[in-house]
Amino acid sequence: MKPAAKTEQSTGNLPRADVIPALRRLLPQECVLSRPEELAPYECDGLSAYRQVPLVVVLPETVEHVQAVMRLCHERQVPVVARGAGTGLSGGALPLADGVLLSLAKFNRILSVDTVNRTARVQPGVRNLAITEAAAPHGLYYGPDPSSQIACTIGGNVAENAGGVHCLKYGLTVHNILRLEVVGIDGKRFAVGSEALDAPGYDLLALMTGSEGMLGVIVEATVKLLPKPERAQALLAAFDDLEKAGEAVASIIATGITPAGLEMMDNPAIRAAEEFVHAGYPVDAAAILLCELDGTDAEVSEQVLRVRQLLLSGGATEVRTAEDERQRLMFWAGRKSAFPAVGRLSPDYYCMDGTIPRKELAHVLRRISEMSSEYGLRVANVFHAGDGNLHPLILYDANKEGELETAEKFGGAILELCVNVGGTVTGEHGVGTEKLDQMCVQFAAPELAQFHALKAAFDSQGLLNPGKAVPTLHRCAELGAMHVHQGKLPFPELPRF
Ligand SMILES: Cc1cc2nc3c(=O)[nH]c(=O)nc-3n(C[C@H](O)[C@H](O)[C@H](O)COP(=O)(O)OP(=O)(O)OC[C@H]3O[C@@H](n4cnc5c(N)ncnc54)[C@H](O)[C@@H]3O)c2cc1C
Repeated sequence: MKPAAKTEQSTGNLPRADVIPALRRLLPQECVLSRPEELAPYECDGLSAYRQVPLVVVLPETVEHVQAVMRLCHERQVPVVARGAGTGLSGGALPLADGVLLSLAKFNRILSVDTVNRTARVQPGVRNLAITEAAAPHGLYYGPDPSSQIACTIGGNVAENAGGVHCLKYGLTVHNILRLEVVGIDGKRFAVGSEALDAPGYDLLALMTGSEGMLGVIVEATVKLLPKPERAQALLAAFDDLEKAGEAVASIIATGITPAGLEMMDNPAIRAAEEFVHAGYPVDAAAILLCELDGTDAEVSEQVLRVRQLLLSGGATEVRTAEDERQRLMFWAGRKSAFPAVGRLSPDYYCMDGTIPRKELAHVLRRISEMSSEYGLRVANVFHAGDGNLHPLILYDANKEGELETAEKFGGAILELCVNVGGTVTGEHGVGTEKLDQMCVQFAAPELAQFHALKAAFDSQGLLNPGKAVPTLHRCAELGAMHVHQGKLPFPELPRF
């Protein structure tokens, strides 16, 4: 475990204990937590290598409470970090020692389900899966399905632009929301997007999506609901070679078929998942592909035949078609529980999240395997192959001197490899605290300057989740990783270390 050393800490005016009595005057007593044992559960998110106890936690019950907290923080220059379920994997909800941790846990109501317009209005603390559960009696569901959907909230999903197995066909969070209500740092409430399919003006809905709590606090979301397909059929293909599996992914998509899900697991992940949930996976395979096809009965039947043929001609040693709904769900149960299953292989693991063009899958997987030997740490791969969204899980032991640091370096090198092949440093987990350095590799100074200008337009004092998602130009300069254009280093006056 390490303190939040990676964060560019906020305003630095410790201590701010006088804020706590002020918050108690605004909110019911039980909504303000400040004792050490009350604060401890909030000290990290899913990236538990980084921890920081916040100054205070508030659990507002109404939008007016959120507004009052934001106004107070704005007046007193106190930073605010919003938190959903804390399942984020990039340290986005990591608290600040001198800041307020604003939990949306009490905003857990589904306000309405509109079956005619196929939408739902929900509070931000509603769990992702709860939306689908509420829509199911109407034959509808909410498309984006992160593996953490049993716990993560829609507010956190919007803030991270979360993805999932079904996003290949049905889009990420940004494609599945219509409207948000947001409270700005000055306490003012505003709406972005609209209930209609389009909204005039700048696309602030897209901007707010993936903004990692840095532009405002989401207090309501209107999401799209999809009709449940007539039929969903899952196939499992085994390969004796990881690269062949990677090539098969590219060839399926190239035919014009868009599976509802197309996921890959390598041997360590297959074994871990099989031991954990007994999904019936072939444990000797070098890789498996899980492919789900959905649509009308006729459509699915035709696509199953074509994909089966493609998989076999791409070198699959075995292709199974789920015989019934129970088996289909078992195929997916292994994939959905792969992260916790891999957690049983090693005391700790570090989940990376980079995206690459699909055609680079085979090459990048081979490089990751070589890097695993170079860094001396094992890797399990389980990921959204159809989207080219990799999740190498680097296995390490935090109790062994230097292993966390090696895992971080290895992870950073994987992300830089993604950028080098034309990809990005995150597919769905966000930048948070974790990937600030790699943002310096992904973006040049003028692009980062635009990000900072945008942030300033919403939050000129930098009080909303400061130090996350967008690195300072100084940080990039220190890393010496700024892009050099035409032989010139941007901002040459900045000191390099
Ligand atoms: C086992 C496991 C599997 C996972 N699988 C996936 C996956 O398949 N796909 C995927 O995309 N992610 C996945 N994740 C990551 C994580 O679940 C997602 O990033 C999720 O969207 C985070 O939601 P949360 O409610 O936990 O948000 P938190 O972790 O609490 O917060 C995440 C970010 O959102 C901000 N935030 C939260 N609520 C609000 C709000 N109301 N207003 C403004 N900002 C807010 C926070 O400040 C923070 O920056 C997985 C995580 C785990 C642990």
